[in-house]
Amino acid sequence: MNLESLVKPSVLTQPVYEPGRPIEDVARELGIDPAGIVKLASNENPFGPSPRALEAARRALEHGQLYPDGGCVALRQKLAAVWGLGADQFVIGNGSNEILELLGHVFLGPGDEVVMGVPAFAVYNLVTRLFGARGIKVPMREFRHDLAAMSAAVTARTKLVFVASPNNPTGGANRAEELLGFARGLPEHVVLVFDEAYAEYDEAAADLRPLIAEGRKVICLRTFSKIYGLAAFRVGYGYAAAAMTGLLSRVRQPFNVNAIAQAAALAALDDGDFVARCARENRAGLAQLEAGARTLGLETVPSAANFLLVKVGNGARWFVELQRRGVIVRPLQPYGLPEWLRITVGTRAQNERLLADLGALAGTIR
Ligand code: PMP
Repeated sequence: MNLESLVKPSVLTQPVYEPGRPIEDVARELGIDPAGIVKLASNENPFGPSPRALEAARRALEHGQLYPDGGCVALRQKLAAVWGLGADQFVIGNGSNEILELLGHVFLGPGDEVVMGVPAFAVYNLVTRLFGARGIKVPMREFRHDLAAMSAAVTARTKLVFVASPNNPTGGANRAEELLGFARGLPEHVVLVFDEAYAEYDEAAADLRPLIAEGRKVICLRTFSKIYGLAAFRVGYGYAAAAMTGLLSRVRQPFNVNAIAQAAALAALDDGDFVARCARENRAGLAQLEAGARTLGLETVPSAANFLLVKVGNGARWFVELQRRGVIVRPLQPYGLPEWLRITVGTRAQNERLLADLGALAGTIR
């Protein structure tokens, strides 16, 4: 009997997540020094972690012989104070990615439907498929979620609806009132998963806490991977009614978030100045990239996040050519946008370098 015949059907057909290429990988392939490579492919923070978070992480290393606090108590208490919610209204994950998977564990099985936008974060679809549920894909409208069409796609089988604002990979955001109205119009049997991974970059980001207070079935997801600059540590969280976070906690691993990550996240929440500076720099960087693209005659999409879509024509080709020059971006043909690149906003110098490389290529490929 071969191994495959023993495997669950949902696993056999499961696609594999393709991350942005790591710097070391590209350096090896090109035979160049990793220090000369710029990665603008995974929406990471170009300013690194906050120094306070790093210091806390270093101190936590000293206690590496101990298991972490499995309940992330200190972090949940801190988040409770930040958000004005109860500590029991938070669930902490190994990145917000893990919380997406926990939602699958709790809610999804064969026959269930999940409504999601396309193109949106690939993991929504991966989780849906992993648990044997069916993704109902609703095209974006002007690079934002088409909430009216998503409402119309809800059926008696719908369990979850995923909405991200700002959305990845498009960068578009839905207005707060529009999101609140959408959530209030969803039927009782549907859970809204509102992904706020890039919300700190969006000055007009929606606050869905009133929906939680109203007793609606909604969970909001945040991450320390983006503006907090802690992607390597793997920590994110969800906030919702205590009944919801309680269910998600039942299906997680006992020590899902390591102690170094907990310490770093806790300290990062105390460094409001760092977050404010990164948001400011990001806005300046977005303006720099937009202006540079305009000069080159390349179309962009208005972004509320820390990345920008740039229409180059043959995205796969531009990706390869930029990579040859030591700049890693994200080609979007896997997301159904073959003419576009997704470019993370870097430091001023990184943005300049990228624009210079785009300019050099503009004459040769179109
Ligand atoms: N949601 C969105 C929209 C994202 O873009 C990402 C990361 N790329 C995540 C969630 C997951 O982030 P993490 O697991 O690092 O917290």
